Amino acid sequence: MRQAVVFLAVLCCVCEGVKFGQLCSGNPGNTRRTSDKYGAGHYGAPRGSRTHKGLDIKCTDGQTVYAPFDVTIQRRSVPYTDPAMATINNGILMRGAGLCFKLFYIQPVKTSGSVSKGQKIGTMLPMQSIYPGITSHVHVQMCDSSDPTGYF
Ligand code: ZN
Repeated sequence: MRQAVVFLAVLCCVCEGVKFGQLCSGNPGNTRRTSDKYGAGHYGAPRGSRTHKGLDIKCTDGQTVYAPFDVTIQRRSVPYTDPAMATINNGILMRGAGLCFKLFYIQPVKTSGSVSKGQKIGTMLPMQSIYPGITSHVHVQMCDSSDPTGYF
């Protein structure tokens, strides 16, 4: 048990105290999606037979999405395989502040290269057109699918 604790402490020293900067232009406090008729926004929320692997941060359709750290964009990354979801099926995978994470439901300004904290990295896609009445949001997911909540 003690070995496990020491190991975790070493693993996490890089990211301790790291907090995401503002993600969405209309949401300076990174307020989270709570619950709506489609589900809840917290990590581990039920999604049918699966669970929610990320954390949802409120963002109104069309608003500007900012880099939460100085980041390097690695590639495009998308949440769905279903062509019916094409309108909102976009996002990027990036690294910054020692973290690797994905942002979904944004139209990225680019899919490689660097973006400084607070600069535009994308635009919130029209989520209401797919899920009318949902709390529109950016989905934040760690590359290892661990819980991002401690970084907010
Ligand atoms: Zn989500």
